[in-house]
Amino acid sequence: MSGDTAKLGFDTLQVHAGWAGDPATGARQVPIYQNTAYLFRDADHAARLFNLEEVGYIYSRLTNPTVNALQGRIAALEGGAGATCCSSGHAAQIMALFPLMAPGDNVVVSNRLYGGSITQFTHTIRRFGWETRFVDIEDSGAVARACNKRTKAIFCESISNPGGHVTDLPKIAAIADRKGVPLIVDNTTATPYLCNPIAMGATLVVHSTTKYLSGNGTSMGGAIVDSGTFDWSASDKFPSLSQPEPAYHGLKFHEAFGPMAYTLHGHAVGLRDLGMTMAPMNAFQTLLGIETLSLRMDRHVANAQKVAEWLEADERVSFVSYPGLKSSAYAKRARRLYPKGAGALFTFGVKGGYESCIRLVDSLKLFSHLANLGDARSLVIHSASTTHRQLTPEQRAAAGAGDEVVRLSIGIEDAKDLIADLDQALAKAEV
Ligand SMILES: *Cc1c(COP(=O)(O)O)cnc(C)c1O
Repeated sequence: MSGDTAKLGFDTLQVHAGWAGDPATGARQVPIYQNTAYLFRDADHAARLFNLEEVGYIYSRLTNPTVNALQGRIAALEGGAGATCCSSGHAAQIMALFPLMAPGDNVVVSNRLYGGSITQFTHTIRRFGWETRFVDIEDSGAVARACNKRTKAIFCESISNPGGHVTDLPKIAAIADRKGVPLIVDNTTATPYLCNPIAMGATLVVHSTTKYLSGNGTSMGGAIVDSGTFDWSASDKFPSLSQPEPAYHGLKFHEAFGPMAYTLHGHAVGLRDLGMTMAPMNAFQTLLGIETLSLRMDRHVANAQKVAEWLEADERVSFVSYPGLKSSAYAKRARRLYPKGAGALFTFGVKGGYESCIRLVDSLKLFSHLANLGDARSLVIHSASTTHRQLTPEQRAAAGAGDEVVRLSIGIEDAKDLIADLDQALAKAEV
């Protein structure tokens, strides 16, 4: 089933979209196409494939049937025209910017991001001659002022990791529209079940599929979904898409492919030349994960609500950042934009500070102390001593990762067991 999926519900799409059975064998589940290259019928067929006159498989760095099924499924769940999967969430962020940016161009980026993304945007993308302009995404005036002629995109997270900040996506999308640039939303922590950035005006959505989409902590991966609605030819800002692309024998992608221009550029140029390809096995694991996404997210959210409420009432705890709590500054916005729940990732403060946090993470038994999120298991990390270690104290505070802050990714276990584990560890953490 890869045709018109617009009328089907989320629970149906997560099991069916992108795959109607194997055309070669009838295999119902998506097979792992563990192969590198594909036979051409004849020389004319090969020429048509290389000219992008016919859709088909050439070489698995560009396209692979297992990965393609996952691309179709994620695009359907996000309500996009097409998707490109790649080797990790960080690969997806580079791949998302690649068709848009040239040396000297800039991207306006929220300072409330996953720590690894802040590092990538602060240091690594400069090597490409790209500039990052960090802004407080709550300050829409600052977002608008940061955009200039060389701005090619605005980038933010839907629910930001780890601070529990809920971005006002319709408002930021309106600014992007006025500036004539795409809004790119990292929807990793919300997932397409809880949030649809495209429906709120985003042009591009990026994912670390490593997290909730794969769901079991087995497989690295990333995805970029394009809404298919941005007019790349409305200005001269996006020559890779609107002008003859020298990296693909002068093809004009937008003119030739319309709403699929950005996605096909991602496959034919991005994956071909950057090589950040998702492995078929990882695509398979991620497809299996997505089959239960809505069921898991409902449980993740219900558990997160119970654990957050319990923590907030505990006197050893200084604050809880969960947007599902009435006390959250973002509670009203979260209810408006995410009626099915505000995710399952939040931070809380331990009154004893840095030392107590270290004791807490060492005393927890059910929670796993590691650098990941979105696993079926509950996870804990002290961001200041781990993921956010490379950042300055100011960047840490802005990202909601100060010394006394512990981050939880609530899993799908019994909530009462998670609460009992936190209770005993908080007792051991007291200094
Ligand atoms: C994990 C994560 C990333 C990076 O994804 P990888 O798959 O680890 O490369 C990006 N954004 C967010 C919000 C994340 O949680």
